[in-house]
Amino acid sequence: MGDLKNKVVITPTYPTVGQEFIKWVVVEPGLFKYPLGEGEKPALLGGRCTKCGKIFFPKRSLCPDCFDDSFAEGTIESIALDSRGIIYASTVARVPSPVGIKHPYAYGYVDIPTNKIRVFALFTGAEPESFISGQEVELVLEPVAVNKQGQQVITYKFRPILERRY
Ligand SMILES: [Zn+2]
Repeated sequence: MGDLKNKVVITPTYPTVGQEFIKWVVVEPGLFKYPLGEGEKPALLGGRCTKCGKIFFPKRSLCPDCFDDSFAEGTIESIALDSRGIIYASTVARVPSPVGIKHPYAYGYVDIPTNKIRVFALFTGAEPESFISGQEVELVLEPVAVNKQGQQVITYKFRPILERRY
């Protein structure tokens, strides 16, 4: 039995950068700033149409409002959205998510008044049932699952405001 134990070799299957294992990946590139620098606040990255001024999230190459299809360079510019919002609607999922999110969990829509935009998001930092319409929330970046390579998958969520702005 001792011989058998010595034959067990654990080989990491995840990729490496230099000597460091990559411990995280983002759920989708370009959705938010990551990694963050020292003291940098998390922000979703939206798009702003330079023709009509419409702001949308996620960023895409065609404005969903004016559908300007000239594909002119710089028609859609990147914009870091305000990290504060107000819950428009919330619901609780009581079944496992296909991507491995632990249940129950809350998700819904958040209005970001500064940017006049509504975004879809997961909620965190409180009991799933506690999120209600009209509640002030702020953006955080958190692991949502662990992938097959053992990496933390980072996504954006909103949590109750811990420090009120006013
Ligand atoms: Zn537009």
